[in-house]
Amino acid sequence: MQIVKDEGPITGEQIAEKLNLTRATLRPDLAILTMAGFLDARPRVGYFYAGKSANQLLGEHVRKLMVKDYKSLPIVVKEETSAYDAICTMFLEDVGTLFVVKENKQLAGVVSRKDLLKTAMGKQDLQTIPVSIVMTRMPNIVTCSPDDSLLDAAAKLMRYQVDALPVVRPMEDGDGVEVIGRITKTTITKAFVELGQHTDV
Ligand code: ADP
Repeated sequence: MQIVKDEGPITGEQIAEKLNLTRATLRPDLAILTMAGFLDARPRVGYFYAGKSANQLLGEHVRKLMVKDYKSLPIVVKEETSAYDAICTMFLEDVGTLFVVKENKQLAGVVSRKDLLKTAMGKQDLQTIPVSIVMTRMPNIVTCSPDDSLLDAAAKLMRYQVDALPVVRPMEDGDGVEVIGRITKTTITKAFVELGQHTDV
């Protein structure tokens, strides 16, 4: 890479000579560097530095990750579900955020751990108070769509300081949106770990 950076365009033959290697020995390495986007090769001209840093290449890769490929199943409750049952659902499903939906699956709101903790601190009866009273409701819900990039979804999680985004699409009949998935901070952490484990940038 350094040789090409300093002296490109330079042929494979010339690089091999400088390294005291045969052209054949070098060929697979040059092929990898070219495929990975570090070098560019032009016929009859030679190799030249593509000018992209590993960081740029990683950024390009990250921007291609899509919400639809990473979303997990949404855990939903109905508006009339009691705060008590919502807490049970959180434990049973091992999630920190529930999406509240109407009969026709239309997104009505979001109820988080803290919403339920707040309710538990009050004097209300958890068995009778419905989640619709304590949830954050539409249209104040930050959502994402399956065709958004995972990076945009992650930026929304940061910007709005929430743990989860419902993945939504327009309802087939009428207004509002239907919940089809969920993106959480865990989703982003998982994608981050995957990126770190891949060596083929
Ligand atoms: P926690 O309450 O467990 O810290 P969040 O930080 O996600 O979880 O929630 C903080 C507040 O934001 C809660 O009142 C919750 O109802 C609301 N909230 C959570 N997710 C969203 C969202 N996607 N859009 C709008 N509000 C949300």
